[in-house]
Amino acid sequence: MTEPRNDTVSGSLRPRSAELYRRACRVIPGGVNSPVRAFRAVGGTPLFIARAAGAQVFDADGRGYLDFVGSWGPLIAGHAHPAVNAAVSAALERGTTYGAPCEAEVELAERVVGWYPAVEQVRCVSSGTEAVMSAIRVARAFTGRDLIVKFAGCYHGHADHLLVAAGSGLATFGRPSSAGVPESFTALTRVLPLDDEAALTALFQREGTRIAALIIEPVPANHGLLPQRREFLASLRRITEEHGALLIFDEVISGFRLARGGAAELFDLSPDLATFGKVIGGGMPVGAFGGARRIMQRLAPDGDTYQAGTLSGNPVAMAAGLATLEVLERESGWERLEAKGAELERLLRPVLAEAPFPLHLVRVGSLFWMAFHGAGAPRTAAPLSPSETARFATLFHAMLERGVYLPPSAYEACFLSLAHTDADLARFASALRESLAASG
Ligand SMILES: *Cc1c(COP(=O)(O)O)cnc(C)c1O
Repeated sequence: MTEPRNDTVSGSLRPRSAELYRRACRVIPGGVNSPVRAFRAVGGTPLFIARAAGAQVFDADGRGYLDFVGSWGPLIAGHAHPAVNAAVSAALERGTTYGAPCEAEVELAERVVGWYPAVEQVRCVSSGTEAVMSAIRVARAFTGRDLIVKFAGCYHGHADHLLVAAGSGLATFGRPSSAGVPESFTALTRVLPLDDEAALTALFQREGTRIAALIIEPVPANHGLLPQRREFLASLRRITEEHGALLIFDEVISGFRLARGGAAELFDLSPDLATFGKVIGGGMPVGAFGGARRIMQRLAPDGDTYQAGTLSGNPVAMAAGLATLEVLERESGWERLEAKGAELERLLRPVLAEAPFPLHLVRVGSLFWMAFHGAGAPRTAAPLSPSETARFATLFHAMLERGVYLPPSAYEACFLSLAHTDADLARFASALRESLAASG
């Protein structure tokens, strides 16, 4: 792990953030409510954000940054989008939560069912973690089997049994798994490498009759960005069907981002269950999971599988999600995001080609990642060497000094939003050119 550095530098440049961090560390573990925010992988002290608008965040010291984190995925329309804010304000006027059904839940569910063909019924929860936990539970209930298969490098939230070889958070901290997760809790989880049909076939030959479900991020985006071959994803569909197991697409990042119908539409593949989060909440805490009616009917109160939530389907959160989905549809969001991604790629190609060390751009729609792997962009969860990680840390701070906010870990993908203009993308490219020259 990189030692925190630049402490005095960023402290003196950002005294208010530094002071808030000092206070936070006293009363919040590590000073943060989610580990990767703490800048441990890049050194220095985290920015405390005071406000945000469009493609920009402003820190507590009043400095503005072009934001490529987008709150890690939800803000596909940009920060504080007027239509989303208006919908949230209007919902607030009518009360924050009822603990009883409301119309916005039905509207959001109808939208998901209309846009994502594999989903006939959907239930809302309050986070992506909950969505995945619940999808796994109903998959086990439906199949009457216990085993779950996941892929190394894919992150599915922080539920105990899925916190194995689970992406950037753990990679950043150099751990295969988390303390506090008993081995018996992960004993029913199998981990496969991505991009490997032979390992997949061997596992299903061995244990296929015990496998309830196989879960994958169809566009893995939590250990860098690891786009998979369509043929590999199709083999998952085939082998789960052959063995009576369910295929779960974890579309918490890809859902409503890469296409109206998520990665399932992009690859023209139909999972049995899908999980959503991030974009579907438009910046409010929302997750959702859905699938065929015959599976979803196993949930209480119709069925025997318990699942619940005090704030599930919260009216304010539903309003933010609905407004975000409406912006995407009304403004040809997916076409525009693809165009922005393509423009960024065009701008970055020559910059990366001139980099003083190997640097590879990986992009799928509005998701992109700069892979620091000397050996080339990987398709499986490949660790970075200490020197590659150090290069990222240097670049991260050089970009920050030029007013560009990247995710503070070499294993995190970057997010484009509808608020990024061509001028913003050009600014990113020139900041990158300067930063690479300075670090070379
Ligand atoms: C973010 C994420 C989750 C967890 O969602 P939370 O809302 O953070 O609990 C699950 N799966 C994937 C693919 C994610 O990217």
